[in-house]
Amino acid sequence: MIAGHPTLEGGCHCGAITLAFSTALTPETTSPRACDCGFCRAHGAAWISDPAGQLVIRAQADRLRRYRQGSLAAQFLLCGECGVLVGVLHEDGERGYAAVNTACLDARDAFAASVPASPQTLSADEKTARWRQLWVGDVRLLG
Ligand SMILES: [Zn+2]
Repeated sequence: MIAGHPTLEGGCHCGAITLAFSTALTPETTSPRACDCGFCRAHGAAWISDPAGQLVIRAQADRLRRYRQGSLAAQFLLCGECGVLVGVLHEDGERGYAAVNTACLDARDAFAASVPASPQTLSADEKTARWRQLWVGDVRLLG
């Protein structure tokens, strides 16, 4: 956790996956990005991230499921038990970059209205460049 930063807690429905997102973002003034791809729309996902934040994902054994679509460079993180989409991860060697689905945070109702986003219009290189700039750059996946 980052000293002085509040932590947004959340996770999947059944409790097999929990999230702790340490960030200076304030939900009331943060507009999640509602991605218009078919997968995100099917989940009602709206994304937040903070390049200066830290995201800790704890998953019980074998519960974390990864799904790739689109450019295949990102992995959507889902609970294998209850099916909830908790985040999206881009792995670049040892580094991981991630965004959080606000719909699975305890503070989900406190966020500002979502804004539409259309990353599917970007090329594969543009997408990864955007993720490295915009997504949480300190991601810890704990079993
Ligand atoms: Zn679950």
